[in-house]
Amino acid sequence: MTKHLTALFGAIELGGTKINLAVGAGPDRIAARTQVPTRGPDETLAAVAAFFLQETRLRGPLAALGVGAFGPIILNPDDSEYGRLCPSPKPGWGGYDLLAALRRMMDCPVALATDVAAAGVGEAHCGALSGLDCGVYLTIGTGIGAAIIVRGAPLPALLHSEFGHLPLRRLPRDVTAGLCPFHGDCAEGLVAGPAIAARFGKPLNAFAADGPEMALVAEYVGQLCAAIVLAVSPKRIVLGGGVAKAHGLHAAATAAALRALNGYAIHGIGEGYIAPPALGDDAGVIGGLVLAMRRWKEQS
Ligand code: ADP
Ligand code: ZN
Repeated sequence: MTKHLTALFGAIELGGTKINLAVGAGPDRIAARTQVPTRGPDETLAAVAAFFLQETRLRGPLAALGVGAFGPIILNPDDSEYGRLCPSPKPGWGGYDLLAALRRMMDCPVALATDVAAAGVGEAHCGALSGLDCGVYLTIGTGIGAAIIVRGAPLPALLHSEFGHLPLRRLPRDVTAGLCPFHGDCAEGLVAGPAIAARFGKPLNAFAADGPEMALVAEYVGQLCAAIVLAVSPKRIVLGGGVAKAHGLHAAATAAALRALNGYAIHGIGEGYIAPPALGDDAGVIGGLVLAMRRWKEQS
C-alpha cells in the first residue's frame, strides 16, 4: 500500500526554559509552530497536548512525533527505563517517565533524542553539518550539551555524550568558582551562560569581541573543542546556543582550540571548523521533524 503523501508530523524541542513545538508535512514544510515555557512536567505536558490537539483537529492525525528533550535521559531502546529522565536539578523532572507521558498523550510512534541531538540532526539534514558523515553539535546556553551525529543520526550510546561536563584546565587569571553542582570546574561550570554572568556580571554579548572577557571564554571553549577533536575527530563542530550568539566567539574558539592542540592532530582544522548553526534556533524542531519522518518510514 502506498503511504499517504501528506502525512503530518509533530516535533517537540523540550528545553530547560522553553519548549518549541511544530507540526508539518516534513522538515522543510512547517505548517504551524509555537513556544511554551517549561514548567513542571504536568503543566508543561498539558500545554504541549493543547497545541497538538488544536493542530490535529485542524489538519488530521500525526503520523509520528519527533522529540528532542533535555537530559540526562535514557535513550537506549533496549533499556527497561527507555525514555525516563535521570535525576536532575529541574524541579519535578528528575526520574520523570517522559516517553510514557508522551505515549499517553499522542496516539502515534514517538522518536526520542536529546534536544542537542535533535538540533544536530536538523543541521545534518539541511544545515551546517549537511554532507558530512561525522559532525558534533555543541550548544552553550544555560547548560552545555553536545551530540555526535554520524550519517545524519545521533551516535547510539549507553546514555548519550555529555561533553559539557568534561573537566577543563582553569586559567590562572580566572578566580571565579565553577558552578556545576556535580563537578565544579567542568566546561558547563566554567563557561555556560550562568557561569559567564556570575564572573562578569553580564552576558558575553555585552563585551567587545576583542576584549578580555571574550578571550577568557574562547580559551575555555577552545579547550573543550580540542578535547572533542581528540576524542571524536568530527569533520566540523557546530557551536550554537545563546552564548554562541556573541559576535566573534566561533573564530576566537577555533584559534584557542588550535593553541590547546599545540600542533597535534590538527589536520583539516582551520577557519570555519567551529561554525555557527545554519538553521539558528529552528535546528531543534527541524531535527524533530526529520526524526519523526524517519520513524514513520521505519514503521511503514
Ligand atoms: P537555553 O539554554 O535555556 O535553552 P539559550 O541557549 O538562549 O537558552 O541560553 C541562555 C543563556 O545564554 C543565558 O545564560 C544567556 O545569558 C546567554 N545568552 C543568551 N543570548 C545571548 C547572546 N546574544 N549573547 C551572549 N549570551 C547570550
Ligand atoms: Zn559538570
